[in-house]
Amino acid sequence: MKKQLFNQLEQNYDEMVEIRRYLHQHPELSFQEKQTAAYIAKYYQALGVTDVRTNVGGNGIVAKIRGGKPGKTVALRADFDALPIQEETGLPFQSKVPGVMHACGHDGHTATLLVLAKILFEMKEELAGVYVLIHQHAEEVSPGGAKPMIEDGCLDEVDVIFGTHLWVTVPYGTIRYRKGPIMAAADRFEIQIKGYGGHGAQPHKTKDSIVIGSQLVMNLQQIVSRKVNPIESAVLSVGYFLAENSFNVIADQVTLGGTVRTFNPEVQEMIEKEIGRIVEGTCLAANCDYEFHYHRGYPAVVNHDAETDFLAQCAKEIPEIKTIEESIPEMAGEDFAYYLENVKGTFFFTGAKPDSVKTAYPHHHPKFDINEKAMLAAAKTLGLAALKATGSVSS
Ligand code: MN
Repeated sequence: MKKQLFNQLEQNYDEMVEIRRYLHQHPELSFQEKQTAAYIAKYYQALGVTDVRTNVGGNGIVAKIRGGKPGKTVALRADFDALPIQEETGLPFQSKVPGVMHACGHDGHTATLLVLAKILFEMKEELAGVYVLIHQHAEEVSPGGAKPMIEDGCLDEVDVIFGTHLWVTVPYGTIRYRKGPIMAAADRFEIQIKGYGGHGAQPHKTKDSIVIGSQLVMNLQQIVSRKVNPIESAVLSVGYFLAENSFNVIADQVTLGGTVRTFNPEVQEMIEKEIGRIVEGTCLAANCDYEFHYHRGYPAVVNHDAETDFLAQCAKEIPEIKTIEESIPEMAGEDFAYYLENVKGTFFFTGAKPDSVKTAYPHHHPKFDINEKAMLAAAKTLGLAALKATGSVSS
């Protein structure tokens, strides 16, 4: 059965490429993916899959394939939104939408899952269990599509979930897995300092919000360096400091903001509190008012141990995969985190560095591109994991 799966995927690889290139030409921004959702639903309809739910938690699609024999229920997830980036790859299948680009490989994720679903549907009589294909909208923008899809029931009766990200900084032929946290919680904050403007020659009659804001930026640096246990990891970056003003005027107000990345919820909690304390203290010392907003983004992606070991074992049976290694934790965020808060499973990286380059353009770059062969490797890995998790193939 494993051989049949692999053979069928190989024979349908051209279609995978075709789908990926079509989606690449027609990218849509997060929460606006109406055409992509319709394309996915139509694909399942054409296959003859009858259990397809559209508009799940927004633009999400969930298709279910029931095997002919009893077994466990496994979910596989692919996201399908694009980014507000003007593509500069010059590829023949470059984006046709100005300022919008599949610059994170979600086109590849969708093509991988659609063709894998096609093969599973063809094999369904011989399969055990249930296959839940989760096509998720809006991964790129918090609050994301995963949460509303889960609230709308996409994980109901699911025993285990697997997901992968095609990852161009990892060589083709490599799978990277990790037990525990693999991607960070990504939060954002904004602080408005309400000083008191005035004449640049008379600072004593003002509350200089630029000086106060500068102190604040420096004080914030102490959180990661002095408050976080060096064994833990965290990032606090101030990304903007807005104080446009005239040379002879003391700025009345300053707005600054940034991002916080963590893996441990306790560290996250502590940093949020510390930022609040430092803002309060700095502004108290300067005798000025302020506003402070802290927005929690996606939680950290925390993989389950047994399912991660299981996936790494499956990867050993994939002919295309030559290297299986532990991943470093990535500081980027992913709303796959929410699935793993609800069911057991694992999220892993499939190496997708293009053959033609020494160093790949990173994710979210205008010249970003994937190695399309990685889709086949990902489909085989996800497919075999699904066959084994449902009990269709013994492990
Ligand atoms: Mn992504």
